[in-house]
Amino acid sequence: MMPTPQIEAVIDLDAFGANIAALAACAPSSALMTVVKADAYGHGRVRMARAARAAGSTWLGVATIDEALALRQAGDSGPLLCWLAVPGAAYGAAVEAGIELTASSVEQLDEIVAAAGRRPRVQLKVDTGLSRNGARGDEWTALVAAAASAQAAGRVEITGVWSHLACADEPDHPANDVQESVFRAAVDELAAAGLSPDLRHLANSAATLTRPSTHLDLVRVGIAAYGIPPAPDLGYETTLTPVMTLRTRLAQVKRVPAGAGVSYGHQWVADHETTLGLVPMGYGDGIAVAASNRAELQVGGARVPLVGRVCMDQLVVDLGDAPAGRGDLVTLFGPGHDGEPTAQDWAAATDTIAYEVVTRLGGRTVRTYR
Ligand code: PLP
Repeated sequence: MMPTPQIEAVIDLDAFGANIAALAACAPSSALMTVVKADAYGHGRVRMARAARAAGSTWLGVATIDEALALRQAGDSGPLLCWLAVPGAAYGAAVEAGIELTASSVEQLDEIVAAAGRRPRVQLKVDTGLSRNGARGDEWTALVAAAASAQAAGRVEITGVWSHLACADEPDHPANDVQESVFRAAVDELAAAGLSPDLRHLANSAATLTRPSTHLDLVRVGIAAYGIPPAPDLGYETTLTPVMTLRTRLAQVKRVPAGAGVSYGHQWVADHETTLGLVPMGYGDGIAVAASNRAELQVGGARVPLVGRVCMDQLVVDLGDAPAGRGDLVTLFGPGHDGEPTAQDWAAATDTIAYEVVTRLGGRTVRTYR
């Protein structure tokens, strides 16, 4: 019999596939890209990439060239875009591997063209208001001119133009309209220079779910594919199922008297006799110290509070007087269907976003796929 992993992230591949199908149905005239950067938001890059393709995701997207090359080494061969590179990045290897690159400036376009052994396929990134990567204003005009002349000279193939929204998780935020109109103008400027690439894209998960005007030729979905709402109360009809359940087992159970202080600094002190459960996970596994005295876990079907400070490898829950024993199942978060907390609950308890809750899981977590 296989030993049970001490810390297990159970990944529901059927739910992932169903989420992707549901998101594709939101944007029926657009191609779909599943974003699998940062180890597929903590879900495991290779398995999720394969499952995304099987579920009908034509494209995959990652941030770095290293992430893209790792997918190729694992056997992935489909359309793949990456968007964040520093000078000296492995552009040549990426082009050889058929990876599409993003140019955010003339300088970067030149780097890609200089490094590529054959004609690279490049998408142009316009900064429409997020102020991260991408060219804006005069820099965009210069990038358009450089791209048009490089394409005319056969040194590059411009395959797409795209941007990223800052406030898509607030559908009424005025920045959404502004970014869309800046994007349309940028696409027009490109067309005026003789470049009309097939792929124009703008939408992330939130925009895919709530803003059809952004769907264009392709939508790039990350968090929603993993079943996590991009923001609380976003308001959409689509049903998404959280893909990851994070669980472990009680390593020890002990009865303590009133007055017992728990964990470093005794930030929690029992006010009556109670039973404590030791959970073998801590900030070394991505559990935020901010969860101390704030988050809840599920043990034996009941929600129990995390008490005292989260340590590197351990945390403590107050089990009260419920019967419990070493080895009992502990669910930190999951879909929420059986009363267990969700990643969104952890985000709310720790003043962060659910993206971070799943993405920061540490190296001791074993992922199993169902
Ligand atoms: N596109 C780009 C460029 C991104 O960086 C990301 C993730 O941050 C996404 C799409 C997917 O965003 P989300 O996870 O909100 O769907």
